[in-house]
Amino acid sequence: MICEILSVGTELLMGQVANTDAQYISRRLSELGVNVFRHTTVGDNPARVKEALQTALSRSDLVITTGGLGPTEDDLTKEMVAEHFGLPLELHQPSMDALVDRMKRIHPDRPLTRNNLKQAYFPAGCIVMPNRRGTAPGCIVEQQGKAVAVLPGPPRELKDMFEQQLEPYLLKRQEMALSSRFFRVFGVGESNVETILLDLFHSENPTLALYCGAAEVTARLTASGAPGENLKPLLDPVEAEIRKRLGDAVYAEGRDETMEGTVLSLLLKRHETIALAESCTGGELSEMLTSCPGASGALVEGFVTYSNEAKMRTLGVREGTLKAFGAVSEPCAREMAEGARSATGATWALSVTGIAGPDGGTPEKPVGTVYIGLAGPLGASAQRFQFLGDRAWIRTLSCQNALNALRLALIH
Ligand code: ATP
Ligand code: MG
Repeated sequence: MICEILSVGTELLMGQVANTDAQYISRRLSELGVNVFRHTTVGDNPARVKEALQTALSRSDLVITTGGLGPTEDDLTKEMVAEHFGLPLELHQPSMDALVDRMKRIHPDRPLTRNNLKQAYFPAGCIVMPNRRGTAPGCIVEQQGKAVAVLPGPPRELKDMFEQQLEPYLLKRQEMALSSRFFRVFGVGESNVETILLDLFHSENPTLALYCGAAEVTARLTASGAPGENLKPLLDPVEAEIRKRLGDAVYAEGRDETMEGTVLSLLLKRHETIALAESCTGGELSEMLTSCPGASGALVEGFVTYSNEAKMRTLGVREGTLKAFGAVSEPCAREMAEGARSATGATWALSVTGIAGPDGGTPEKPVGTVYIGLAGPLGASAQRFQFLGDRAWIRTLSCQNALNALRLALIH
């Protein structure tokens, strides 16, 4: 199946919004084995939307549009699709009921406008896709073996509709079943992962693909078969092989798992707690952990001790340590972790101290030098890391590596 994505929105052309919808859809379609040959973007202009639609349909089996589905005047994608196929717009009663209900809950005393109501009208005979995250439903129009899927622009609405409704439709249309497993890998670079798994990439079913994330790599294993087929026997042996080769570097399984989420669930499972002592990351580590639901079950306290004075006063780092080795040093990181642990009574404490740059580097401690300390029931230690990148990147890598250090301690 050949697919083309047609993004509609003047804000995309003006550079106000990055086209993450197209990126997301493309990625998902590649997992489904659908070929995406083109991305087209047009503004909210009826003539150009129609022309782009016509061109896209002349060379693709499936066109997925994004945006221009809402209640306002410039939202016209659905109307242009109807016009293209020569279909009248018809009232879809379940959508109308849902719309009335939703508007009543959000604005109890505001009457529905004509604009709102247009969201309940669809090209005759199409498949309507309810919107669980917003007001405008999407739809799929089929004609002569081709299909146009119309999705809303807001990314969270679009993702939900894609996963819940369009993906099952596409799988059925392709007459296949797909099952994917995602292995999140940390601490081994993309090219290394590729080398370690090299021969497994030659397999046609299941297929193996790598995605390079912020500080980690995701290996996706996908098996395909007939609808209803049990794909576990295809996936299990390859999964075992991947895990054997990558070992502890696989920190989680699942498309949306994170390092912080993994560490948090390990702590919760063991009924253990954590304290944080941050210097160069300025609270980013606390932010990462507290962004996970349930963080309060494990995180006791996070200290941002930026100055030497704060490191001594709050964490009990010794003046002699700072004088002899400096704040960015193995002993200082260790004492920060020990101090945070004893101040809070947490089972574990992580500390980060480093030079995030762009200034402050020296020949012995260039920008990107970071010490990560870990204190736990068996004592405290610290490790030196050398990161490359700008300030934000060095801070992010510091947090990820700190969490990974704790993860490794927790699983061993
Ligand atoms: P609404 O009901 O909110 O009007 P809509 O389906 O009509 O939704 P648009 O009006 O085109 O969609 O866009 C709404 C918002 O969604 C945009 O302001 C933008 O923030 C986001 N958005 C639209 N298209 C994209 C895209 N391709 N990638 C990422 N975000 C997008
Ligand atoms: Mg809109």
